[in-house]
Amino acid sequence: MVIAKAWILKKHFDGLPKTSDFDLKKIELPSLKDGGEQKLLLESVFLSVDPYMRLYGQWQVKEGDVMIGTQVARIVESKNPAFTVGAFVVGEKGWRTHFISDGKDLQLLPSSWPESLPKSLALGTVGMPGLTAYFGLLEVCKMKPGETVLVNAAAGAVGSVVGQLAKIGGCKVVGCAGSDDKVAYLKKIGFDEAFNYKTVESLDEALHKASPDGYDCFFDNVGGEFASVAINHMKKYGRIAVCGSISQYNDSVPQKGPYMQIPMIFKELQMVGFIVSQWNNRQKEGLQALLKWVVEGKVKYNEHVTEGFEKMPMAFIGMLKGENLGKAVVKV
Ligand code: NDP
Repeated sequence: MVIAKAWILKKHFDGLPKTSDFDLKKIELPSLKDGGEQKLLLESVFLSVDPYMRLYGQWQVKEGDVMIGTQVARIVESKNPAFTVGAFVVGEKGWRTHFISDGKDLQLLPSSWPESLPKSLALGTVGMPGLTAYFGLLEVCKMKPGETVLVNAAAGAVGSVVGQLAKIGGCKVVGCAGSDDKVAYLKKIGFDEAFNYKTVESLDEALHKASPDGYDCFFDNVGGEFASVAINHMKKYGRIAVCGSISQYNDSVPQKGPYMQIPMIFKELQMVGFIVSQWNNRQKEGLQALLKWVVEGKVKYNEHVTEGFEKMPMAFIGMLKGENLGKAVVKV
């Protein structure tokens, strides 16, 4: 008999989540059966902590339910011939150490996954955040060689891939992040310009200095005040991919303007919100491209690994506070 540990959402978030909003529970798992849905026993090896959990935790998770989330898990026992014991999969089973599945909703890691590559990358650069960068840049920003791309939260899971893919696509890239270490990292991985948005005297001046001619594409992970300043630096006919708005996720009271309509009209901008699942039918294409670039060393990665399932809430809160350089994951 296996006893799984799971993190329950005890109390809906109010402002920045607190460790007291969560509760660690033990859940007894049933034994596997030949028929029915209980065909696989899996153990989580890495779990992801992502900004969307702040919003969906409020919208989709009831108090008392297991927190939503994705993991890389190893097959421990199998009565499904499509999954061999020891194989690794990506699952969306929430914050649990172990779970049972029939296999239908699990995705095996690509067979070409090199042994030398951390499997946790399937939650980051070669996973959902990497796909977000890939489709957001190609399909929403429609970047072209020679253009200038701006990305914020640039040292994070999505942003760090955005900048590197834009460089591969022949663009000039400007990124900003919330610490000097993050800015140094951005320069190391090839960003043309990078600055710390927390310490610049004027965001307006920093954006102008980094690209006096303005920006063709803006990949927005932050929204709020940053976006309303950046929009004034767009070139005519510029494209804005509204990927995230993390500066607003913890707000209890909605922020107020400045509003964007005037620059939108007179610069004839396109601003498109998107969710990466829009391209679920092209996931394989995106993952293969990302994996290839990582293996070739054209896309670099950094992971912020927190050790211990017990620290999931702290890892999640730390990511929302900007403690992560690269993808925030938890190693069980
Ligand atoms: P990150 O790895 O970038 O981690 C979050 C980062 O956000 C922090 O490290 C911090 O970096 C930054 N941040 C936190 N609070 C603020 C704030 N108030 N102002 C500015 N920056 C802040 O997360 P992801 O890469 O996973 O996600 C980035 C964005 O992309 C999020 O908005 C997320 O919701 C969105 N997203 C959207 C998807 C979609 O399908 N549309 C899919 C995946 C992600 P710093 O130190 O630089 O402040």
